[in-house]
Amino acid sequence: MTEILEFDRQHLWHPYTSMVDPLPCYEVVSAEGVMIQLRDGRELIDGMSSWWCAIHGYNHPELNRALVDQSQKMSHVMFGGITHAPAVELAQLLIDLTPASLDRVFFADSGSVAMEVALKMVMQYWFANGRPDKHRLLTIAGGYHGDTFGAMSVCDPVTGMHEKFVNVLPKHLFAPRPSSRFGEKLNDDDRDSLTKLIETHHNELAALVLEPIVQGAGGMWFYSAEYLKLVRQLCDAFDLLLVFDEIATGFGRTGEMFAVDHVDIEPDVLCVGKALTGGVMTLAACLANERIANGISADGGVLMHGPTFMANPLACAVAKRSIELLDESDWRSCVKRINAQLELELRPLERLRGVFDVRVIGAIGVVQMDAPVNVAQLQTQFVNYGVWIRPFNDLIYLMPPYITRPDQLSLLANAINMAIS
Ligand SMILES: *Cc1c(COP(=O)(O)O)cnc(C)c1O
Repeated sequence: MTEILEFDRQHLWHPYTSMVDPLPCYEVVSAEGVMIQLRDGRELIDGMSSWWCAIHGYNHPELNRALVDQSQKMSHVMFGGITHAPAVELAQLLIDLTPASLDRVFFADSGSVAMEVALKMVMQYWFANGRPDKHRLLTIAGGYHGDTFGAMSVCDPVTGMHEKFVNVLPKHLFAPRPSSRFGEKLNDDDRDSLTKLIETHHNELAALVLEPIVQGAGGMWFYSAEYLKLVRQLCDAFDLLLVFDEIATGFGRTGEMFAVDHVDIEPDVLCVGKALTGGVMTLAACLANERIANGISADGGVLMHGPTFMANPLACAVAKRSIELLDESDWRSCVKRINAQLELELRPLERLRGVFDVRVIGAIGVVQMDAPVNVAQLQTQFVNYGVWIRPFNDLIYLMPPYITRPDQLSLLANAINMAIS
């Protein structure tokens, strides 16, 4: 083991990892396009986009330039009492891209923090409007919204981390995960279970919080767009606010710019993150409509949040350039092409022993196994094969950068095929 790996093993925590018996770790020295370069000289094709972020690939000259240019003006300046062009220009882009009613922007420093802010927005809204009794949240099982306490409280109660924090987490309400698949009509069970919960509990509910269309880290599940229509109808009928977490789905991943664009509805709050900066820096944002913004301040109140690095100019500048790059590239055809190839090359795996389900949407391909996989063993196989794929639980999945070439995508799909056959 090299010195770096040895020190890392002794001293560094990794995501969701034991400090005593950590999973093996690989040292990366550089990354370029869709290739990740290991210390030992091996090069891996990236199938993960570094957890949904690196949509344009790594070391992109335009994104690098945006960062360098901004760093020569100012890398950071506090956002209390100060504003700057990078924040304003990025906000303008986000307002233009997202549903029309969302035109008030809060910049946060990570997805989880953006979710905390979204939850504060809906809680403060009802408090300021004389309904402090509307303080619980409704969400759907199988969700993932981040690792901070507020976000965690709406993650799936089983695969999430609830059992470790039972006494600290607020008790919110969970509707069953919609069983109607993406592309299908909404079935009666899904309609009835959600309707019943809202009918029963609306007096204590501040908002319905969910990931539209694609549930990510909670199980990589894709559900019927009609569910979102129902969700909006019920929220209107029973006076609940509606929060969409598009931190994973935003910026083209599902085949539309945002997952909400699969239907003709608008949430009251929408969170973005992950691919926002093209994977270069951490940044997230919460967009709200006028009702929320004015409601919070109805009694002279203010939104009680203000991160130290709020609207960091470097992150805003690189995010702006990343969105422009999406605009300049033909991202829609890239995602379509990846989608068609994932269908072609992953779909046949459905017939293999041990495979429970194969599903594809946009530039996301998922192979769900019958049982949890051995992550360390699979990861070694993948690295030996020259690809970077990180499974979790019973899920082996791909969400490659949009610039991935067909031959590279084939190698990713083949790697999954080899590993499970
Ligand atoms: C990753 C993720 C988050 C949390 O974002 P972080 O930047 O990791 O804090 C929240 N919601 C969804 C849907 C995510 O995929």
